[in-house]
Amino acid sequence: MIILLRRGAAKKDIEQLREDLKAWGFSLHESTGTTESLIGIVGDTSTLDISTIEARDCVETVKRIAEPYKKVNRKMHPENTVIDVRGRKIGNGSLQIIAGPCSVETEEQILTTARAVKEAGATMLRGGAFKPRTSPYAFQGLEAEGIKLLLKAREETGLPIVTEIMGEEDLPLFEDIDVIQVGARNMQNFKLLKALGKVKKPILLKRGLSSTIEELLMSAEYIFAGGNNEVILCERGIRTFETMTRNTLDISAVSLLKQKSHLPVCADPSHATGILSLIEPMSLSLIVAGADMLEIEVHCTPTRALSDGSQQLTPDAFTELMGNIKRMAEFLGRDIG
Ligand code: PEP
Ligand code: MN
Repeated sequence: MIILLRRGAAKKDIEQLREDLKAWGFSLHESTGTTESLIGIVGDTSTLDISTIEARDCVETVKRIAEPYKKVNRKMHPENTVIDVRGRKIGNGSLQIIAGPCSVETEEQILTTARAVKEAGATMLRGGAFKPRTSPYAFQGLEAEGIKLLLKAREETGLPIVTEIMGEEDLPLFEDIDVIQVGARNMQNFKLLKALGKVKKPILLKRGLSSTIEELLMSAEYIFAGGNNEVILCERGIRTFETMTRNTLDISAVSLLKQKSHLPVCADPSHATGILSLIEPMSLSLIVAGADMLEIEVHCTPTRALSDGSQQLTPDAFTELMGNIKRMAEFLGRDIG
């Protein structure tokens, strides 16, 4: 961390700053130029609050040099983290495909969809039991009943289950779930992240609607700091000025996350675009960008869906997409599953 001192700052204020920093255990490297004076702080500055330093009269500005995320940083852990979900490996170079409806609606709907995505080659099943909806009057999910139906679908198809949690008070219901999803709207629900740090299950952490890549990594750091080292990062599009797509898919984030962190990276072209015709080109691009996993919405009858009907693929369209995903995976020498 580097502190740029204000020109003409009082000597006693600078001396007080030096003394405080040393008392907090840091060693200092100072550089006094003709116009600017700097103090370099050496040591683990992750607990140091920049704004508290900047609040001092003698300080012009403070800049972090080291990244604030430590445990999820590839510099600290050069090898890829590989997560095992019922024998399926995430992060070892293979490709995992999560598919299923936006929401779990009925037993017939989830079972029919689960059978169809399994047949097409999906390796995990998704379905929302707890739904974060913009309107309080929209379908909110079947909650505990939805979780039961997902477990029934797993029993029949063998597909591991991925489903979203919205509050830590619901954790007991997720005991048999294979991967717990944290949705975009909860990426910075720090109380939930802390609770998930104590859980011994993989967490699929989706990027917040307006969150930076660094903020996503810091949220993963929360889960790690609590003791859970199984986190999958997920790019699902961000809010920009563009209105033609539901969100703006940040494909570069996928490649950058793989460089910055050792964690597996998932990408969700369904919520990122909201447009059926874009799901295939974006899926293929995301695989090329290095995604370890894709999460794609598929519904047995999208025209009757209780949420996100317009972006969910039919089983036939998903089967066609899987054909092209398989060809791309083969071209890149990557196994599916
Ligand atoms: C979802 O995957 O069901 C979902 C709500 O996605 P997101 O949190 O990315 O909006
Ligand atoms: Mn959805």
